[in-house]
Amino acid sequence: MNVKSNIYPTKALQEADAAHHLHPFTEHRTLNAEGSRIITHAEGVWLTDSEGKRILDGMAGLWCTQIGHGRHEVAEAVYKQMQELEYYNLFFKTSHPPAVALAEKLAELTPPQFNHVFFAGSGSEANDTVFRMVRYYWDLMGRPEKKTIIGRWNGYHGSTLAGTSLGGMKGMHGQGDLPVPGVHHIAQPYWFGEGGDMDEDAFGLWAANELARAIDELGEDKVAAFIAEPIQGAGGVIIPPDTYWPAVKKILDERDILFVADEVITGFGRTGEWFGSTYYGIEPDLMPIAKGLSSGYLPIGGVMVADKVADVVINKGGEFYHGYTYSGHPACCAAALANLAILEEEKIVERVKNDIGPYLQKRWKALGEHPLVGDARMVGMMGALELVPVKGDRTKTFANEGSVGTMARDYSFENGLVMRAVRDSLILSPPLVLSHEEADELARIAEKTLDDTYAALKREGRV
Ligand code: PMP
Repeated sequence: MNVKSNIYPTKALQEADAAHHLHPFTEHRTLNAEGSRIITHAEGVWLTDSEGKRILDGMAGLWCTQIGHGRHEVAEAVYKQMQELEYYNLFFKTSHPPAVALAEKLAELTPPQFNHVFFAGSGSEANDTVFRMVRYYWDLMGRPEKKTIIGRWNGYHGSTLAGTSLGGMKGMHGQGDLPVPGVHHIAQPYWFGEGGDMDEDAFGLWAANELARAIDELGEDKVAAFIAEPIQGAGGVIIPPDTYWPAVKKILDERDILFVADEVITGFGRTGEWFGSTYYGIEPDLMPIAKGLSSGYLPIGGVMVADKVADVVINKGGEFYHGYTYSGHPACCAAALANLAILEEEKIVERVKNDIGPYLQKRWKALGEHPLVGDARMVGMMGALELVPVKGDRTKTFANEGSVGTMARDYSFENGLVMRAVRDSLILSPPLVLSHEEADELARIAEKTLDDTYAALKREGRV
């Protein structure tokens, strides 16, 4: 098979893929029976598959391609860096220009408490660093009994041991006896799905108070940190009620634990601010980042470390026995720097806040009128549509949870738009460079997808 030519033999690729490739988060029997879709090119917000079909990338890859696909400036920056220094480590009392430049740039772009970064290769690795650094911090503070980290059910922090443990995905926990000891999960602020008969504000306060209750029950002297995504992404774009973050902030202000805001998705403009923490006015001590840091052009993540923690690590600590071969990889740092330059020069974050964000939100929220949609929500450029059997009744859900979401996701792909299914909702997170015309096209395809799904459900007698 010659994949170097511009002719892509779809069938041969699918067969070799099925024969030799284990995919992430994939049910292989189904995939192998259907054959994977082979993506061969991408430009802007458009993907092209091996059959020449164009598909609008409504998930920005996996929530990462802020600047859109195919920006040659990034490729050129990486090519140049590779010719100068393709790789060197940062362990041997050494550094290199791209790591230094990126660390300095991140200190400038992130909220003011952050002046240091610890580099990792991905969001999951960043959260492994979080897990270790939180405990290291309390050891250095002479409080080694402060070990428990509180996460949230249905939170997502990655797929490594620490990431899976901090996250609250029960299916993931079930595979391999996780979480590891010392992690405690509390309720998520998911009003639409779990709000019962409370109104949204009351539920937000209740969910926030679950944190206070957990800290008090576990004992503040045993709790090291609370970790949460400002907006849950993989859990279904769960936008907390307005009352949630102010109440959590107050609880954290009154208690001596670290706060970790996982900004792997919400960072780098996704909410219309550079960081979700700014959007909500929350002040994390540690901030894992990845994805939009390089727009996914090369893999890189990191943890932003607030002065409060960095001072202790630097001035009280000796050697922190932690780091990755690819921490601050020069080519990845070069990609990140080129990506951040594009975000800044083209004012892409401001555009999400003032222009394309509101434009897309208006179209997205209009889909809330559809008989199949129980809730259409969006902040910045991340949104969800909850698909329901009985409009106006949050308590009614489809039998065989997930089947309707998957059906709608498949229609969407066929119709030319990538959306992702989470339970029976569809989620969206397109590149931030989406144009107005592309937003119109996206909304048109999403509406057709809802119509197709509704018609199929009618035929099956499910609505
Ligand atoms: N944290 C959050 C909030 C995420 O959404 C993700 C990935 N979806 C991760 C961590 C893990 O990142 P990665 O897949 O790069 O390991």
